[in-house]
Amino acid sequence: MTTAYDVAAVREDFPILDTTVRGKPLVFLDTAASAQKPRAVIEAISEFYETHYANIHRGVYQLSADATQRYEGSRDTVQQFIGATDRREVVFVRNATEAINLVAHTWAEKNLQAGDEVLITALEHHANIVPWQMLGQRKGIRLRVAPVNERGEVVLEEFEKLLNDRTRLVAVAQVSNALGTILPLESMIELAHKRGARVLVDGAQAIPHMPVDVGQMDCDFYVFSGHKLLGPSGIGVLYGKLSLLEAMPPFLGGGDMIESVSFEKSTYAPPPARFEAGTPDIAGAVGLDAAIQYLQGVGIERVALWEHELLEYATAKLSEIDGLRIIGTAAEKSAVLSFVLEGVHAHDVGTALDQAGVAVRVGHHCAQPVMEIFGVPATVRASFALYNTRNEVDQLAAALRETLEIFR
Ligand code: PLP
Repeated sequence: MTTAYDVAAVREDFPILDTTVRGKPLVFLDTAASAQKPRAVIEAISEFYETHYANIHRGVYQLSADATQRYEGSRDTVQQFIGATDRREVVFVRNATEAINLVAHTWAEKNLQAGDEVLITALEHHANIVPWQMLGQRKGIRLRVAPVNERGEVVLEEFEKLLNDRTRLVAVAQVSNALGTILPLESMIELAHKRGARVLVDGAQAIPHMPVDVGQMDCDFYVFSGHKLLGPSGIGVLYGKLSLLEAMPPFLGGGDMIESVSFEKSTYAPPPARFEAGTPDIAGAVGLDAAIQYLQGVGIERVALWEHELLEYATAKLSEIDGLRIIGTAAEKSAVLSFVLEGVHAHDVGTALDQAGVAVRVGHHCAQPVMEIFGVPATVRASFALYNTRNEVDQLAAALRETLEIFR
């Protein structure tokens, strides 16, 4: 199916796409690691620094009030974008990793006891594995892992079998960064809630590519990073249901998160301020606001359709290449293609593609366990975004054929 999506117009909004690499036009296929930024985001950040910058929440002067308004305005934009019912449910953090660690150090620290279980899946990014292992070491909590099948899909029956009365938290990605699998969250969340477990969704790879509604999803926590969502690095979001956030102890102590301080005792501000100690990434929030508004302007549904077309096109193109094996063939996939070339190490493929101006990610993608399941130390990962084209897929395929020629 062809949509009336104007990718050429979208590309014009991204100055970096005019760059040449080794004398060749840049073919950027590593958005799953971090997205490129539209001019609207770059300009919003410089305009903020040039005309509105001051520290927030404390100044009595106009500039500080302005900056505060923009920072808090970004919270409103995020709230509306993810379908949260209350703006206080949106906590600004540095990135998805920090958001998960925040939940591990506050909610989980308070509510989980030795012998309790945290259930994740075999597809998780290290950011959604290591914090729970560290929690386990601190508190004697058991980490359980739901397996995936040979296509890289979570097996719901297996997932359900692992849920029990000790499962206090299910922490799962919405989309796997290594394989692109879209997880069956609706069923997983329903099953987890039936067992009385809370659910944290790692939306880092989902939110730039599909509509997200945390209310409808009914997750308890949702985390993502601004830099994968066309925004700047250094800003991310933890969404939490208000009743949960209100009952959570603080994470970091310092300015802005308190109600009152004396040497004997301090009391803490309500959420979200309780979890935003110190001067935050003010310009980052402004940039994130601009990124979301940009994406909404293009239309997230249209973006999702376009990326799906690209994924189908690329899957067909790459499947024609002799000696190329796609890793992760789930029925429901986001625009990520992981693959290996017979007889060529993934790092050599990455270097050869770079010579052709094609930027892809090679390695374990911070998901070593899933690589182990597929019996490969590393894959080449091409990930697509709203600014990629079929022509770029063709260039990837041509460069892969050349690489195979060289190494054979
Ligand atoms: N979760 C997933 C699924 C990811 O793909 C990533 C980054 O690649 C992260 C979490 C961590 O994101 P960040 O490094 O921005 O904290």
